[in-house]
Amino acid sequence: MTNKIKWKYLSIIFGFILISVVVQTINANIKHQKQLESQVQNLGADAHLYFQDLIKGLSDKYLMLSMHYAYEPLMTPLMQERNHEALLNYVKSDYDRMRSIEPNLHIMHFIAPDNRTILRLHQPEVYGDDLTEIRPIVRDVNATKQSLQGFEVGKNGITYRITTPLINQNKEYLGLLEFGIRPNYFVEKLVDRFDVESMILVESSSLGKLQTTYGFDNLNGFSIIQQTALFEELANQINLKRNSQLVKYQGRTYLVLTHLDQPNHQGEVVSKVVIATDITDIQNQNQRSLIAESVLNLLVLLFLWTVIYVIFSRYTYALENSYDMIQALHLKSHQLRTQANTDELTGLYNRRFFNESLQKILDYGQAGTMLFFDIDHFKQLNDAHGHQAGDQVLVEFAQMLTGFFRQDDLIVRWGGEEFAVFINNMPEDEAYQKAERFRQFVEASSNSHQPFMFTISGGVAAIDSTGSLDEAFKLADQRLYQAKEKGRNQIIGQFNKTTRPGNKEV
Ligand code: GH3
Ligand code: MG
Ligand code: MG
Repeated sequence: MTNKIKWKYLSIIFGFILISVVVQTINANIKHQKQLESQVQNLGADAHLYFQDLIKGLSDKYLMLSMHYAYEPLMTPLMQERNHEALLNYVKSDYDRMRSIEPNLHIMHFIAPDNRTILRLHQPEVYGDDLTEIRPIVRDVNATKQSLQGFEVGKNGITYRITTPLINQNKEYLGLLEFGIRPNYFVEKLVDRFDVESMILVESSSLGKLQTTYGFDNLNGFSIIQQTALFEELANQINLKRNSQLVKYQGRTYLVLTHLDQPNHQGEVVSKVVIATDITDIQNQNQRSLIAESVLNLLVLLFLWTVIYVIFSRYTYALENSYDMIQALHLKSHQLRTQANTDELTGLYNRRFFNESLQKILDYGQAGTMLFFDIDHFKQLNDAHGHQAGDQVLVEFAQMLTGFFRQDDLIVRWGGEEFAVFINNMPEDEAYQKAERFRQFVEASSNSHQPFMFTISGGVAAIDSTGSLDEAFKLADQRLYQAKEKGRNQIIGQFNKTTRPGNKEV
């Protein structure tokens, strides 16, 4: 295994780790986003429930109080006579006490069954006026004799009103009593409970009834009638169409919830409470834990990668070493095998390997022809040109053999300047022709190309699986000897045919 491959795998592993880190980081991000969203939703839901509780608490309290007054014996004559002064004296101290406990209690208002004011505790000097046109809740309670609650704009302001029929013990209808709480009540309670900033909005179109024009700021068709300091800065960024939104101001992030809708007694949204809470710290904390989580992920995965790297490197090192070792052993054994089977000078097979291979071929039931060749007067060549020149001739002759005969044929340096070829699957007469052609080839090559002239003599003998190797060798050797005897540069076989002029039949 090479370094390149090692790094390829390590890169792939690193790629997987990187993808894993990215996926985990995205996952963590989504998780934190969801956490934040659920915190937002919880705050929204909690605020909404709390608001409902506040309204219910107010309704219960002032309903009870109204019923108490209705059952007071003095109330019946005072209401029936519309005795403004006596009624004021009767309830003034109660009103003052209630206001000292709850300063946001703004309105306490006795009204006759014909919608005319009997007594305004908050404005005693004005009475006897008809409210039919401007105060739907008053008109509807008088018409239905049922208690109603809701935000309503009156002459004196935008107020949450609990308007209750006064029915005495004799079931006589005396008129109605209305309590009104300033919106500030809700703002203060929400701020106390949830540590939020808040703002109260009232539909601008319903503000026409107000005696005084206050010049409220406008926001998406609503007038801002009450707000904590922060909203003076945030208001222009708020979109009332969205239930919740994030608003940035002076480097901090505020979550603004706008869905705390306040209905009038007919269920129409006439007012909204908007709250905002600073979530910068929660966001920062989320971000910090997100970063910490990602860094931790990365560290764990890098550690993992390092472990893999170390294991990989050791493994690669060991593998490389053993690979090199195996290669070296392989080469050595190949060299040894080749050395054991071949002749050092010519590179041809040696006699031992030739014998073994030939025996195997015959054992398989195959047959062929043995050719023996001997270089003529080699001793003279040696003597004339030196042993080295002799060696060179031997090498060149070996090349002629391998060039001339087929790959399937076994070629061997028999010893000295003697060579043998076994031609597989070729009958003797054909092999003889081939040997003769080789002789001619040597003679011709020797004449034209070789630096040193030489010829060869040869003996040919058939061999098959039934005969013995030694016999075949002996026969081929005898025929070679005959060729020498007959004057060299010729091949002798059973058929003893030669193309060489002057050769005679045996
Ligand atoms: P003939 O034609 O009868 O075969 O004559 P010859 O001289 O070729 O035969 P002889 O057997 O008399 O001589 C063979 C010579 O071959 C003797 C020996 O020195 C030489 N010889 C044997 N092996 C080698 C070798 O590996 N290298 C060299 N240069 N000469 C060798
Ligand atoms: Mg010889
Ligand atoms: Mg010889």
